[in-house]
Amino acid sequence: MNDTPSHFPEGARVAVLTTQPLDGPLDYLAPEGGVMIGAFVEAPLGPRKVMGVVWGPGLGGFDASKLRRVSAVLDVPPMRDEMRAFLEKAGAYTLTPLPAMLRLATRAPALGQPPSKRKVYRRGTGRPDRETGARARVMAALDEMGGLALTLSELSQMAGVTSSVVKGLVKQGVVAEEESPRDTPYPRLDPALPSKPLAEDQAEAAEVLRNAVASGRYGTTLLKGVTGSGKTEVYLEAVAACLAKGRQALVLLPEIALSAEFLTRVEARFGAKPAEWHSGVTQTERRRIWHMVGSGGAQLVVGARSALFLPFQDLGLVVVDEEHDSSYKQEEGALYNARDMAVLRASITDAQVVLASATPSLESWANAEAGKYRRLTLTSRFGTAALPEMKSLDMRGEDLPADRWISEPLAAAARRRIENGEQALLFLNRRGYAPVTICRACGHQIGCKHCDARMVEHRFLKRLVCHQCGETEPRPEVCPSCDVEGKLAAVGPGVERLAEEARARFPEARIAVLSSDMYTTARQLKAEIASIAEGGADIIVGTQLVAKGHNFPLLTLVGVIDADLGLQGSDLRAAERTFQLMRQVAGRAGRAEKPGVALLQTYQPDHPVIRAILSGDEEGFWRAEAREREAAGVPPYGRMAGIILSSEDVQKVFDLGNALARNAGALRRIGADVYGPAPAPIARVRGRHRVRLLVKAPKGSALQAAVADWVGQFRLKGDLRLAVDIDPQSFF
Ligand code: ADP
Ligand code: ZN
Repeated sequence: MNDTPSHFPEGARVAVLTTQPLDGPLDYLAPEGGVMIGAFVEAPLGPRKVMGVVWGPGLGGFDASKLRRVSAVLDVPPMRDEMRAFLEKAGAYTLTPLPAMLRLATRAPALGQPPSKRKVYRRGTGRPDRETGARARVMAALDEMGGLALTLSELSQMAGVTSSVVKGLVKQGVVAEEESPRDTPYPRLDPALPSKPLAEDQAEAAEVLRNAVASGRYGTTLLKGVTGSGKTEVYLEAVAACLAKGRQALVLLPEIALSAEFLTRVEARFGAKPAEWHSGVTQTERRRIWHMVGSGGAQLVVGARSALFLPFQDLGLVVVDEEHDSSYKQEEGALYNARDMAVLRASITDAQVVLASATPSLESWANAEAGKYRRLTLTSRFGTAALPEMKSLDMRGEDLPADRWISEPLAAAARRRIENGEQALLFLNRRGYAPVTICRACGHQIGCKHCDARMVEHRFLKRLVCHQCGETEPRPEVCPSCDVEGKLAAVGPGVERLAEEARARFPEARIAVLSSDMYTTARQLKAEIASIAEGGADIIVGTQLVAKGHNFPLLTLVGVIDADLGLQGSDLRAAERTFQLMRQVAGRAGRAEKPGVALLQTYQPDHPVIRAILSGDEEGFWRAEAREREAAGVPPYGRMAGIILSSEDVQKVFDLGNALARNAGALRRIGADVYGPAPAPIARVRGRHRVRLLVKAPKGSALQAAVADWVGQFRLKGDLRLAVDIDPQSFF
C-alpha cells in the first residue's frame, strides 16, 4: 500500500468499504476538505447513510457523474495501514468478504460520536423508603458491577426495570448519579514493578521472551508446561518487556470466567487492572476500549478472541493462553481461528506471539517441530505441587444400577477427601440433567422441532433445551407422540443429574455445581469459583468449565465420570481433544502442597488414547497422532476446507451439492479431492437442511484461490446459503 496516496483532495474518486453485505468497497467522491486514506466516514447508500472506511483510490468502472459524495468524515483516527492489510489478508485466508471483516473491526457503538459527558449511575449510600422487587433488582445489578458505573439504559436493562424506578432511587440517594466524561484512558500499568522471584526454568524462559520482544521483530513461541508450572508468570514478563518498550500488549483467553483470577494477577504485577474485552462488557465500556486502544490510552487488553480486531496503535505482543482451546475458532459468520489470526496480525505489526498451553494443538506442536515456532518448556510444577497420579477405573467390572454413574472406588476415594477436609471434583462434560427424554410407553424420544437433535432436559431451568439452536420448551407431562401421561423418563447423565446422585451418596457434603447454565452473569460465576477456591464446597460437580485455569488449592481428587465420552464420533480431532481435556482436568488436582489423584472411569482402559493419558507420555502421544495424520494427509500435514450448504428446501441443497461435486475442475488442478455432498452431522438446524462437502488438498497448495474459483461458478438463488470453513475444527 506504499505507493497509494495518503490524502485524496475534494472531488477525487475514493473506494469506501462499508459493513453492508456487498462484495467489497464502492466508489464515492471525496468530500469538502478532502479525506485521508483509512478515514472513517459516513456515506449515502440507497436511502440510508452508512459507516465506512476509505480503503484506497476509486476503483473506476462507474460513471463519475453518478457518483455520490462522502457525507461526513467521522472524528476518529483513521484506520492504520497495518489494520487494513490485516483485514485484507485475514479475509483472503478465511474467504470472508471484506465487509464482514470490517464488521469485526468496528464492534463498538457510536464510533463517530465525539467524546462528551454523560450521566452514569452507581450505588449510593442511602436506603430506599420502601423495598420492592424492582428496587432490589436495581441494587443487585449495581452491586454486581462492583463499583463500575452504568448508564441509565444499561442499568434499567440489567435490572429489568423502567428508568423511572432508577430515577426514583436517585431522588432518595440510594443510587448516585454522576456526570462522567466518556472514553477516559485506563490507569497506567507500571512494568517496572518487581515480579515474583522466578524459578530457574521460569527465569530462563522469561529471558528468552524478553529478548524476543526487545528485538521488535515478528516471532512466535510455543510456551508449554503443565498446568501450574508458572506459564502465566512467565508471559507476564513478556508483557512487562513489551509495555516497557512503549508498545501495547494483548492477552487472549478462551473464557470470560478465566479473567477474574487473571485480572487480579495482572493488577498485582503491574499495579492496575488492564482493559477487559468480552461479550459481557457493557456497550459504554466497549466504546471506551475501542477508542483508548486506538489512541494509546490502553496499554494492555485482556480479552476474548474478537479483541484481536481492536485498532491497536502499536501492538507489540499477543499472548494466546490455552492456545489449543476450541473456543478460539469462531463458528458463525466470519469463520476464523483467533490463534492463527494472531500470528498473522503479529507478522504484519512486527510483534511477538506467545502460545501458552499445557496441551498444545497438534498444529502448534508440528510448527514447533518444524522450527517455525520457538519452543519453551517449563518442566516442573511451581513450588512443591506435583502432577497428580492418574489411574483408570475399569467400568466393565462395576455393576452400577442404570441411573447411577459414580463407581464404588471413586465414591470411596471422594469420601476420604471429605473426611480430610479436602475437595473432590466429579467431572462430566455434559450440560443439563439428561441428554435424552424417552417415552416408556411408545419409545418416542423428544427431539427439537427445528433441528435433528434431541432436546436435553435441564431441571435447573425446568425446561427442555436444544443445544444446537437454543430452542426451549417446558418438559411435557404427556408424550407428544402417543399421548400417554406420566411415562416420560430421563435417560443418561448430565451434570445436574450427577449432582443429584452426589447429594444422595454424600448427604453430609457441601456440593457445588459448575456449569454455564446455572449462572446468569459472569460475575455470579466468578463469585462461585472464588468461594469454592476458599473451601466453600467439599464436592464440585462440573463440566469443562472447571477444566480451565482456575486454582482450587484444596482439590486433591478428580474423578472423570466418562473418560470415553470424547472418543466417540469420527471427528479428526477426537483423540487430540480427549487427550487435552483429560490432562487439563486431571491438572486441577493437587495444585498446592497436597498431592492429587485423578481417576478415570472408562469402558476402554486399553484404548491407545486412554493409555497415553495415563502414562503421561505426551511427546509419544503427539508423535503417534502426527504419524497418523501425516499418513492420512490431513491437517496439519494436508489442507482442508469444509463447505456447508443450507436451505429450507432439502432438494435444493442436495442439487447444489451435487453440482459442486461434479464441477470441481478448479480443485482437481491443485490436486485436491472433494468428498460429499453428505448430510452434515447435524442435518437440520433452525429448520434449515444442511449438507456438507469436504475438500482435502496437499500441503502447500493454493487452497483458497481454488475454492474461491470453484464455488464462484455458482450463483446462489433464494434462501440457499454457502459457507466456506478453511481449516475446519469441527464437523457440525
Ligand atoms: P500456569 O499458567 O502454567 O498454569 P501459573 O503461572 O498460573 O501456572 O502458576 C501456578 C501457581 O503458582 C499460581 O498460583 C502462581 O501464582 C504460582 N506461581 C508461579 N510462579 C511463581 C513464582 N515464581 N513465585 C511465586 N508463585 C508463583
Ligand atoms: Zn434445535
